[in-house]
Amino acid sequence: MKQKVAAKTKNLESDIVVIGAGGGGLAAAVTAAEKGARVIVLEKRTMPGGATNFAEGPFAAESPTQKRFNVTCTNDELFNIQMYYNHWTLNAKQVREIINKSGDTIRWLEKKGIEFYLPMMYPNQSPLEWHNPTKGCPEIIKTFMKDCEQSGVEVLFKTSAKKIILDKSGKVSGVIAKAGNKEISLKTDSVIIATGGYGGSSRLIKKYNPTFNLKNIRVNMLKNLHNGDGLRMAFEIGADNDGLGKLILHGPTTAARPAFGLAIEANCVWVNKNGERFMQESASFSPFEACNGLLRQPDQVCFSIFDEALMQYSLINGLERPFQSSLHSKRMHSQWDEAFKQEAAQDRMVISDSWDGIAKWIGVKPDDLKATIEEYNACCDKKHDDQFAKNPKNLMALRKPPYYAVRCAPGILSTFGGVKTNHRMEVIDKTDSPIKGLYAAGNDAAGGFCGSTYNVRLAGAGCGFAFNSGRIAGENAASYIGK
Ligand SMILES: Cc1cc2nc3c(=O)[nH]c(=O)nc-3n(C[C@H](O)[C@H](O)[C@H](O)COP(=O)(O)OP(=O)(O)OC[C@H]3O[C@@H](n4cnc5c(N)ncnc54)[C@H](O)[C@@H]3O)c2cc1C
Repeated sequence: MKQKVAAKTKNLESDIVVIGAGGGGLAAAVTAAEKGARVIVLEKRTMPGGATNFAEGPFAAESPTQKRFNVTCTNDELFNIQMYYNHWTLNAKQVREIINKSGDTIRWLEKKGIEFYLPMMYPNQSPLEWHNPTKGCPEIIKTFMKDCEQSGVEVLFKTSAKKIILDKSGKVSGVIAKAGNKEISLKTDSVIIATGGYGGSSRLIKKYNPTFNLKNIRVNMLKNLHNGDGLRMAFEIGADNDGLGKLILHGPTTAARPAFGLAIEANCVWVNKNGERFMQESASFSPFEACNGLLRQPDQVCFSIFDEALMQYSLINGLERPFQSSLHSKRMHSQWDEAFKQEAAQDRMVISDSWDGIAKWIGVKPDDLKATIEEYNACCDKKHDDQFAKNPKNLMALRKPPYYAVRCAPGILSTFGGVKTNHRMEVIDKTDSPIKGLYAAGNDAAGGFCGSTYNVRLAGAGCGFAFNSGRIAGENAASYIGK
């Protein structure tokens, strides 16, 4: 893969400048180049892909993959799923456009050699809409980079966009970027913003979500990726906002990696800092919805508790959530014993033969925790959860020591939204008019497409939106410059 650094020259020119070489930006660049546009991509890091490298895969309806697997999933069905889940709070015209595009995007990617399969995000998921590339999303990024090279798209690494310039009539006319200490000026008629949101900026997350306890929410993995540059540059030139504060939050999640899959299983018991159960653990089939329950708890932390019997049961039967099972291979299961001991040594979980030991580590009165467990075990015995109506098949009494407790908190996968866009992915200003020549894609622009809780029935909404909004932005930017 040819990598260029912009520092060699101070003045560049192209039809379209794309900011960010992640899923949204590269889909836009490749699409615009396919239409005949000259494109430069600016990427602040030394490698492409951004968070799209971590994603499992995009959603789609009416795709060739679904046809081959005899899966019926229509555009209408997915549109209704997303709009009703989010109570019609979204930009319906944009949701429709993106979903209508999604099957064709899979066709486009398959033509480039990407193979997909259709896993379940949760048991018995229907319709199957989640498309995972057999070789992972990095393969899609690699393919986009190859396309860029073949069609003359220049990807300038270590080059961070700083400012978008408008001419006197309010049309896009350029970008100022920095490569090291060198300022670079790019002349262009169109810019596509795709910097991935602000999930790595604690300051912005706090600003847009003042109730979050950031001490416990895990944002670290996005720190060098997503600092809100796209939002800042768009707002500076008059863009309106849409969806600030929407995040893909999931949880309970844990820093104790090997315990992650087990800790969010529906069979466990989750207690808050007071040693009280607070929700139906079987809600963990959507870790995004479960996280909302966790956010209401003191300090937004909880402890997932299980016993030796539950651990053995999971070892023999595997994890219940198919997605988690795929993440936690058999090899990992067989290493749980040793891994848990290591996690306990780092104080991320505790293993104890008594409830007193567990209570001491959590910091609650032993009698309070024992009362919670006794009440829960009684519910398991009669197969009815009086408190939270948990699915009876997940009611497994905790009576076999050693007992385990894992510290859990919410985690952030992405932020959704900020820059207001229409269904053509044009950036909209405060007078509700498009800023001429300016487009946005991916997380920066997802405020009208995604709600405040990630919808598991539209699994793949993050990178799915990135690829589809990128393609739409690329097509419309190319058409704007006359291609
Ligand atoms: C662990 C994890 C798992 C996930 N799993 C899924 C999943 O299974 N399905 C799903 O749909 N979504 C998933 N997501 C979310 C999904 O990855 C994102 O929603 C999507 O990839 C966002 O694409 P993007 O193009 O907006 O951002 P990115 O792919 O992150 O691209 C943004 C790029 O912009 C660059 N950049 C930032 N600022 C500048 C600047 N000033 N100048 C130049 N370049 C800049 C960044 O370095 C980055 O390369 C997951 C996210 C994470 C973190």
